[in-house]
Amino acid sequence: MNEILLEAKGLTTEFTLKNRKKVHAVSDVSLEIFKGETLALVGESGCGKSTLGRTLIRLIKATSGEITFGGVDITSLREKDFGPYRRRMQLIFQDPYASLDPRMTVRDIVAEPLKTHKLCHTREEMSERVLSLLRDVGIPEEFLFRYPHQFSGGQRQRIGIARAIALDPALIVCDEPVSALDVSVQNQILNLLRQLQHERGLSYLFISHDLSVVRFISDRICVMFLGRLCEIGRTAEVYSAPLHPYTRFLINAIPKADPAARFEEKPLLTGELPSPTDPPPGCRFHTRCPYATECCRREVPQLRPVAGRLVACHRAEELHR
Ligand code: SF4
Repeated sequence: MNEILLEAKGLTTEFTLKNRKKVHAVSDVSLEIFKGETLALVGESGCGKSTLGRTLIRLIKATSGEITFGGVDITSLREKDFGPYRRRMQLIFQDPYASLDPRMTVRDIVAEPLKTHKLCHTREEMSERVLSLLRDVGIPEEFLFRYPHQFSGGQRQRIGIARAIALDPALIVCDEPVSALDVSVQNQILNLLRQLQHERGLSYLFISHDLSVVRFISDRICVMFLGRLCEIGRTAEVYSAPLHPYTRFLINAIPKADPAARFEEKPLLTGELPSPTDPPPGCRFHTRCPYATECCRREVPQLRPVAGRLVACHRAEELHR
């Protein structure tokens, strides 16, 4: 699993609001996604996860930085040259209902990308492909002509997944794909994603604010705070010994299964959540970090190797001891 599928270097995405304030949504992000892996991207809502996910697959234009996919620099490919790469990168949304056209049948929804990319030559071939995709995601054939409102939330997410895999992608950005679902349905969808990954060699960028879900599905985890990456490492290692103070906070805040542990005192983040229009200088986490020093207020910590992973904290070694 060490072949790089997608690599981002120094990726920055900024927006200018109507009041002319600049939103620093993603700042100087570098990461790699390997073939066949699930890389989780976690952090509080509003920290830039979705913007980063969309920037990586060019649904949002990066302000600066570089993206390579399969070894090809796709950052500034013209739209017509980018077409074959767009097919290979798909997105699954949090709310499948909002992303499915209510006037279209399931057959038409799943057939749409196949038609757009002219992948089937006859009506029969199209019907066969659609049925096969629906079978792969567990939607029965007799539901072919139903409309989105006739399905449960879990079934609608299955339809969204069928549409996403229709073009045989290599990478799927899953943007909070189970957060709108009940826990039992969540597990079914997560198992389906794993099964499809296994069968098709897919890579996932799995965006979530829910660290319990991420633990189950991801190989590596990437923690983000206010547009910058804090820590990247193998999921088991990050969960058992988080190094960045923000990662520690997130992991300590996961509800415990043990009833006695539920009443343990949880660490609280101090200070206000800074605004992405006016991020603090130096380490963006310094206004909330109990370990902050003068250096943290001045200098931006870069991601660097510490204890077998990458950590962006001036005091990572001390905190590791
Ligand atoms: Fe805290 Fe400083 Fe590390 Fe930032 S660099 S997380 S402020 S100790």
